[in-house]
Amino acid sequence: MQEAEQEKLLSVVVSVYNEEPALPDFYREASQVLTDLDWEYELIFVNDGSQDGSLSILEQLSQRDSRVKVINFSRNFGHEAAMIAGLDYSQGDGVVCMDADLQHPPECLPKITECFEQGYQVINMVRTKNEDAGLIKNITSSAFYRLINAISDVHFEPNASDFFAVDKAAAQVLRTCCREKVRFLRGYVQIIGFRKTTLSYEARARAAGKSKYSLKKLLVFSVNTILCFSNMPLKLGIYAGMFSALMGLAVMVYTLLTRKGAPSGYATIVVLMCFMFAMLFVVIGIIGEYIAILFTELKDRPVYIVSDTRNMIQKKEN
Ligand code: UDP
Ligand code: MG
Repeated sequence: MQEAEQEKLLSVVVSVYNEEPALPDFYREASQVLTDLDWEYELIFVNDGSQDGSLSILEQLSQRDSRVKVINFSRNFGHEAAMIAGLDYSQGDGVVCMDADLQHPPECLPKITECFEQGYQVINMVRTKNEDAGLIKNITSSAFYRLINAISDVHFEPNASDFFAVDKAAAQVLRTCCREKVRFLRGYVQIIGFRKTTLSYEARARAAGKSKYSLKKLLVFSVNTILCFSNMPLKLGIYAGMFSALMGLAVMVYTLLTRKGAPSGYATIVVLMCFMFAMLFVVIGIIGEYIAILFTELKDRPVYIVSDTRNMIQKKEN
């Protein structure tokens, strides 16, 4: 914590999972842009349990360049855990989280430091174009944002990505206050307040390799996000109850008025029973999902486990 130094430090956090083919290009491009900045920088690569040669590339880079720091996880903990670890270990006056596949273009970094210099504390990077995402990914992504914005009190920026930057104060808030096990990091970035701004960028095609997010992973992620940021699904039980009470009333009035013979009505009973039970089980299932999240939070297992680090002077306490 040297106040005397003039130059500010930018921490660039890069999550890496099986990015062997993309890493050399990323390092080259990012270092080029970063050395031209009038900020000092540290490049923190978080190796999220890669099974390919990513770690050995990172080791070589960290031996050559002391500004390259590596956090090596004991196994794969997921992209968000990697970003959180990077935030935890970063020392910068500004912290940028970005992907290793060059989809988040390093050319944006000068614009980000400019925003910091103008006093902005939270910078959301919004995609204007996503070269790689297919039609299905784009449609489901916009449907997801529409849904979450409709049922949550928080407003989520559609197309906000995992590319974002926070200053020291905002980073400290993320480190200390947003430690949920089931989480949506870019959601927190949007709700913590501070002086915010948005920059747009064109997502490039992946430099190499494949996306690690399958549609199934994205679905689980979306469901968890909804459960984390909205209690609305819990209220479905009340709405379903009111709806069935009204339906029951209508059936009662109808039965009293027509006084049909008791034996007929088998179909009605079967249909009603199936419908009611389906509603009941869905509601129980939703409650179960919330309980599962409570259980996960209660167990309080670590968000990530670090096996070892390179060039990291200060070890994180906790
Ligand atoms: N990633 C990670 N852990 C994972 C999956 C992905 O650290 O379990 C990293 C990955 O290496 C990349 C970033 O997170 O730098 C984004 O992943 P990807 O490019 O596969 O996602 P997409 O851009 O397709 O949404
Ligand atoms: Mg990507």
